[in-house]
Formats: sequence, structure tokens, C-alpha cells
Amino acid sequence: MQDIETIWKQILEKLELRISSVSYMLWIKTIKPLEIDENGNFILVAQSVTAKNQILRNFLDKIDDCMEEVTGRNFKITVLDQNEEIEYLKNNRVDEKNTSKNEEKSPFKEKFTFDNFVVGKSNQFVYAAARTVAEHPGKRYNPLFIYGGVGLGKTHLLHAIGNYIHEFSPNLKIMYVTCEQFTNDYIASLYSPTKNKSIMEFRGKYRNLDVLMVDDIQFISRGKETQEEFFHTFNELIMNNKQIIICSDRPPKDIETLEDRLRSRFSSGLIHDIQAPDIETRIAILHKKSQLEKYYAEDEVINYIAERVDSNIRELEGKLSEVYFLATLNGKKVATMEEAKEVFTNEPKEEIKNDLTPDKIISTVCDYFNIGLQDIVGKKKNKEVVEPRMIAIYLISELLNLPLVNIGKIFGGRDHTTIMHSRDKITSELKTNKKIQNLISDIKGML
Ligand code: ADP
Ligand code: MG
Repeated sequence: MQDIETIWKQILEKLELRISSVSYMLWIKTIKPLEIDENGNFILVAQSVTAKNQILRNFLDKIDDCMEEVTGRNFKITVLDQNEEIEYLKNNRVDEKNTSKNEEKSPFKEKFTFDNFVVGKSNQFVYAAARTVAEHPGKRYNPLFIYGGVGLGKTHLLHAIGNYIHEFSPNLKIMYVTCEQFTNDYIASLYSPTKNKSIMEFRGKYRNLDVLMVDDIQFISRGKETQEEFFHTFNELIMNNKQIIICSDRPPKDIETLEDRLRSRFSSGLIHDIQAPDIETRIAILHKKSQLEKYYAEDEVINYIAERVDSNIRELEGKLSEVYFLATLNGKKVATMEEAKEVFTNEPKEEIKNDLTPDKIISTVCDYFNIGLQDIVGKKKNKEVVEPRMIAIYLISELLNLPLVNIGKIFGGRDHTTIMHSRDKITSELKTNKKIQNLISDIKGML
């Protein structure tokens, strides 16, 4: 078979004729073909989560058709975003060990290095702490806990630590996982038919490390077992002077699902926050990305974007790439204000609502609080179910805009005034109650 790049090139030629040119430039041309595996999966990587969603919603059929025309085979298409790609590569690297291929390649994202991280007022302390930890793992700040809003560079820093250690201390065993992966991994071993052996393997994997990095710990579930396992993993590593680094979108005290003993462990080292970048830093970041990704743009364009996107660096980069692609469509090599203005006046409409249903909301709330479906829609009045029930009602009303009467039917035929009361109670709590704010934002994240 031809190599994947050649195949993908032929597929692209066909796709270009069937998709509008703007969509093609924005969503299709930026796809990276990753691999064709032995199970007939054709794995593609989208450049962002938004791009992935667009591709899945709007272009999958066309890609599928063109793929079949070019290869004469029926592939199952898998689209990953960049975080998923990292995971994929990491997992496959383990498999490849046996064939001793790629052993030297860093499992961390190549571009997420300290050199590519722009330091400014908003992140200088975090940067310094991350660097220290990379230079002296297990010796200084342990654990290091980094928190901050979405798209501010937390994952970038974890990978930078990973890349650094991989290069300068190649003998150290280092692992990056998201909290979700850790949890899934553990649960899989609990439910494995060879449970005891699997748990031993799990522990072997996580407790014999020199450096463990856990990303997005705010998604830790309430499940007792996982928290217990994490607690012991944590203690074992710290006791042996192994480095732990944790990232979250909020400080330990605001992670509602976290057990107290873990919260206090997390707080026992150094906690640092990473803030939204100021304008100078944003401009510097855009210049850096423009160099790295070859998204050429006039200085005026860079300033224009930096002024308009101020709280999320991922979005900042996204805008630069949109502007640049539009420029290439216009036959230019360097983006000008013409494209910048067009991108910002044609802000995409609200993301198309995904296929949320009341069922999905209810089951997510149940998962979150670890309660049964029957209980949440049933008559029970104990505290453990009343609050989740109100939250589910609030979310259904807010996200789906269903009439109160219909929501009442879903919740065991409750009267619409009861439903209204629940909804209003949460709405008013949300204004002041931090705990509720966090709960709702967690659950929305899961949805
Ligand atoms: P988070 O994990 O905090 O949500 P990421 O680490 O994924 O955010 O960062 C989002 C994007 O912004 C990445 O492409 C990253 O390279 C970029 N980024 C964030 N902070 C910086 C910085 N200080 N310098 C350069 N790029 C940055
Ligand atoms: Mg992240």
C-alpha cells in the first residue's frame, strides 16, 4: 500500500472539489493523517476540538466517500483532537517498544517546550516553578500544583517538563496522564476478569515512576475507590521523593469532588496559579506562534488580534490561524488587516447545539453524584437526591429550554410550579454560592 501521506493527498484532491473553499481551508486542509492501523481504522487529527466537531458533524460522509474512491477499501474513520493524539501516540509507543522502533522519541508534544513558552507577568512564577521541577525532579516543590483557566498553558507546561526531563534525564521514568485516564485505567483493572493481576499491573505502572503528572484533576469523580487509589499512589511516590505535578482549572479547595485528605495532600507542596496574559504577552505569543507555525501576518494584524482575544491563548492562536488561512485563500502570503477584520466581523454563530437530551443530562447528573436514575426522578426527599434533582431540572430548563410542564412529566409527573421552584432556587444560588457554581460548571463540562 502507498504511504499514508500519499493516500491522504489524493483524498484531499477529491475533497477539495466537493467542499466549499472556506470550509476546505479551515477544517479539511488542516487535518493531519496519522495512521492506518491493522484493524482498518484511518486515524486523522484535527487541529482543534472545534475543528474535530465540525469534521464529525459536516464532513465525515464526504471524507468516507473519497477515502473509498481512492483506496477501494472501507475504512473506519477516527478523528482525534490534539490531546487525544498525544494519548494515542503514547499508548502506541508502548506497543512499539517490542519492535524497538521510535524508542528515543519523546512521548510529549514536540512544540510544547519551555523555549516555546512565552513568559510574562501572568505566568512567570509558574514558569519558574515548572522549570525548577524539571531541573530537580523530586527535590524542590513537591507536589507542584498548577491551576488556572482554560487555554492558559497548563498542559503546555506539563509537556515542557516532560520534554525537558526526557532530554536531560532520559533514565527517569515519567508519565503524563489526564485524571480521566488515570480513573479509566484503574476502573478497567478493577473490572478485569483477572482483577488481582490487573491491579498489580496498574500499581506497577503508576507507583514505579520518577515523575507523575496528572492533568485536569478537577474531573476527579466522587468514586471512593479511585480517590483511595490516587491517595496511595500519591503517598507512595512522595514518600520516595518522586515528583508529582498536578494541574487543574481551580485551586484544591474549590474542587468539590475531592476528598479532604487528598485536598490537604495537594496543598502540602507549592500551589501556583497561571493568569490570563496581559496585552504585551499576548502580542509576544502571537509572534512566537506566527514563527513556529509559519502563519505570517503583518504586525498590525497581530496587535489587532491580541486586543480582541484576551482570556484564552488557544483561542488567540485559533484566530491567527483563521486569519492566515483566509489570507492564503485570497492568494496572499502574509495576512493583512483585510482578513483580520473579516474574521472578527464574521464571528461564527453559536456552536451548533450538540445532541443534548434530557436523558443525557439526567444520567450525567446521576453519574456525577453517584445516585440512581430511579431516585432522581422518583419521590425521595432526602438531601442526597433533592439537590441533584434540582440541578438536573435547572440544567434541562437552561440548556434545552423545555416547557416546565414537560420537565415535570420527566420527573415523575411533578407539577410545573415545583419544577419552576427548583429551577429558580438553583438560578438564585448560582449568583452567590461558589459550590453550586463549581458543580454546575463541572457537570456542564461533562456534558
Ligand atoms: P490549558 O491546559 O491551560 O487549557 P494549554 O496548555 O493547552 O492550555 O494551552 C493552549 C494553547 O496555548 C497551546 O497551544 C499552548 O501552546 C498555548 N500557550 C499557552 N500559554 C502559552 C505561552 N505562555 N506561550 C506560548 N504558548 C502558550
Ligand atoms: Mg489542559
